[in-house]
Parts: sequence; C-alpha cells; structure tokens
Amino acid sequence: MRIVVVGAGIIGAALADRLTRPAPGGRAQDEVTVVEEREPGAGTSGTSYAWFNANDPEDPAYHRLRTAALSAWRDLAAEFGDPGWYRPAGNTTWAVTGEERDLLAERVSLLAGLGYPAGLIGPDRLGELEPNVRAPQGALIAHYPGEGYVHGAPAARALAGRARESGAALVTGRRAVRLNTEGDRVTGVRLDDGRDLDADLTVCAAGRHSPALLATAGVALPLVDPSEPGSAAPCLVAATTAAHGGLNGVVHAPGLSARPAEGGGLVLEAVDLDAGVDESASPALVQAVGAELLARARALVPGLTADIADVRRCVRPLPADGYPLVGFQRPGLYTAVTHSGITLAPHLAVLVDQEVHGHMSPALDAHRPDRAGGPRAGW
Ligand SMILES: Cc1cc2nc3c(=O)[nH]c(=O)nc-3n(C[C@H](O)[C@H](O)[C@H](O)COP(=O)(O)OP(=O)(O)OC[C@H]3O[C@@H](n4cnc5c(N)ncnc54)[C@H](O)[C@@H]3O)c2cc1C
Repeated sequence: MRIVVVGAGIIGAALADRLTRPAPGGRAQDEVTVVEEREPGAGTSGTSYAWFNANDPEDPAYHRLRTAALSAWRDLAAEFGDPGWYRPAGNTTWAVTGEERDLLAERVSLLAGLGYPAGLIGPDRLGELEPNVRAPQGALIAHYPGEGYVHGAPAARALAGRARESGAALVTGRRAVRLNTEGDRVTGVRLDDGRDLDADLTVCAAGRHSPALLATAGVALPLVDPSEPGSAAPCLVAATTAAHGGLNGVVHAPGLSARPAEGGGLVLEAVDLDAGVDESASPALVQAVGAELLARARALVPGLTADIADVRRCVRPLPADGYPLVGFQRPGLYTAVTHSGITLAPHLAVLVDQEVHGHMSPALDAHRPDRAGGPRAGW
C-alpha cells in the first residue's frame, strides 16, 4: 500500500516509524512517504510542555488508553537505548487550600485504586526527589513515579529518522496544499511545488493545521478554533536559560507547571496566564507573561539563577470535546489528531497501524472524528 503521512510531529513521526517496521505474516511492505512543511518536531510537539501521564481517572476507558501509552513509550525508548529525549523522571504536585487538598487526595485515591502508581508523600521525600524545590509548609504532596516528560522535537526527529532508515521517503520543507480526490476517495496530496503524491491511503497528522488541509476535500474536523475570542487553544510556554539547582522531574505547583528543558534550563507554563493570549498576542504581553512565569519559578525554586531564554506562542490541537480524533474520514483518508499527543503518540501509532491494515481497534471506538460531542468542561 502507498501511504502518505502529512505531518512529522510526534503523531506523524511515531506512525511513520511504526508503518515502516517489517510487515507481519508475509504482507507486502508499505511504501511510506512523510510530507512535512518544516522539519520533524518543528510544530506543536517541539513547544509542548510534553508531560506524559495517565493522570486522569474520571474516564476509565481514556485512562486505559493513556496507561497503555505509557508502556508504549517505555518500549519505544528501550529500542532507542533509553535516549535523552525520554525522561521517565516522575511527577510531583501539591495542594494547599482545603478544596484543592480534597481534590488531590481524591485523585490519588482513585488512581491508586485503578492500580496506577500514585501516592502521597511527606516533605522529606519531596526533599529527596526535588531538593531545590520549596513547597509551602503543610502542603498535601502527591507523587506519580510512572510519569515524566519528553523533549518533543528530538523525539520526533529520532522517530522520523528511523522511519527514513527503514525505507520511508521524507519530504521536508514542502506543504501539502490540498487533498486530491476522485469522487469520494482521497487519492493523495498536492504539494506546494505543484507535485502530486498519489496514495492508496493519506493520513492527516497535521496537528492544529489539520482542519485547513481536510477542508480542501470538504472534510470537517471539530478542533477548537484558535482565532475565536477566549479560545483555549493558544498559549504561551517559556524556557529558561540553563539553571544550576533546577528540577529532576515534572513539578506541578499551584500556579506553575515546570520541568527540565533540553538545554539544562526549565520549561514553564501556567494555564491561568494564557487567558487573553491569542495568536497575535503583543510582544509586550508575551514579555509580561515570561516575567511572571520566571517570578513564579523563583518562588518554586528559591536558588534559581536562570533567566527567561524564550517565550513561545503555541496552539494546542484541541478537539472540541477534548478527546482524540482518530479514524477513517473518507475512503483513502485517515485522520489522527489529538491533544495529549505527546502522551498518546506511540500507542496511537500501534493502533493506527493495525486499523489501516484492516484490524479496527475497539480502544478507538469512542474517538472517531465524526462522533457527536459538545465541549468538555476542562480538557
Ligand atoms: C503548551 C502546550 C502544552 C502541552 N502539554 C502537553 C502535555 O503535557 N502532555 C501531552 O501529552 N500533550 C501536551 N500538549 C499537546 C501535544 O503537544 C500535542 O497533542 C502534540 O504535540 C501534537 O502532535 P502532532 O504531531 O499532532 O502535531 P504537531 O507537532 O504540530 O505536528 C504537525 C506537523 O504537521 C506539519 N504540517 C501541518 N500542516 C501541514 C501541511 N499542510 N503539509 C505538510 N506539513 C504540515 C507541521 O509543520 C507540524 O510539524 C501540549 C500542547 C501545548 C501547546
């Protein structure tokens, strides 16, 4: 089968890597072509906070999907010889106020009840795990040792690179400007240099840009529109300069999410500061958010010597109801777009590989792109 994958973010790169493995049972090997407008990992995957987790007990089926994804990451990382871009360094979080403490205690109890590694720890253990961090006295502290983070850009590069070594063609610096069709069937893509790539199957893994590409064949995808006022999709993520006395793993303090950055600094994010941020956020607003993130980081890590290196505008590929959008949309067209894409990528790659070869996965039944579904409260 000739397969064109549009997009080499973590989703497209993990899928291309999977599709280029030796085909089972004598099936002919697919011819895989990946089209990437920039370079692998240059989209949302490269700016993501990128915490892999299944820290979401409310929906048992979605929790199972995410838990399976954590093992898929372990297996994948082991194949790469435990690379630096995969950091299973744990996640620590705490709550101070009454209601937040109750919610955290309930979450830990629900997750532990599901057999997920989750527990409450005391300040001494926090000091061992994250010696540079200060939590308020009396905080209720939770630790999730099975979680961690990924450096999204090098991970996507490594996966796309291995796909190429295994026979995929990688077309970078070229945009798919439209889906080509014959009747209802999608037959490939037209590139921005006028070339047509014919395919038996086109996979749309273009992240936040997927609705624009799909619309060229009249196909809709319910992603939150980043240009709508108050949209939850646009956000800011900061990285600091290299820091002495940083973090070991992922830390969620009230008002700040932080984890180690690739170059030795920290990645910082605070959802409350994204209110009012849109794609055209002024440089002054971006700078002010960066300064506030750094102030919060200095409160979290009192000895922090770093400064802000970079504040990036980014857009979450955010489905309207928060859940993945994965499945066939037309004959010859399969879509794989999701938030939590860093967490889910290696497991989705396995499931999508099965589905495009005729073995539909019940684990994805609830996540078809044409499902009815309204906005989910908090994604
Ligand atoms: C601030 C922030 C924090 C996040 N935190 C987390 C988290 O903690 N945990 C988690 O699991 N997820 C998190 N996410 C979500 C996660 O980062 C995304 O779900 C994931 O990166 C999406 O990967 P992707 O491959 O679908 O998209 P992308 O990485 O955007 O890749 C799509 C690629 O397609 C290319 N492309 C687009 N259109 C075309 C075209 N027409 N032709 C050719 N190429 C094209 C782009 O250049 C891009 O490289 C976060 C996202 C953000 C923004």
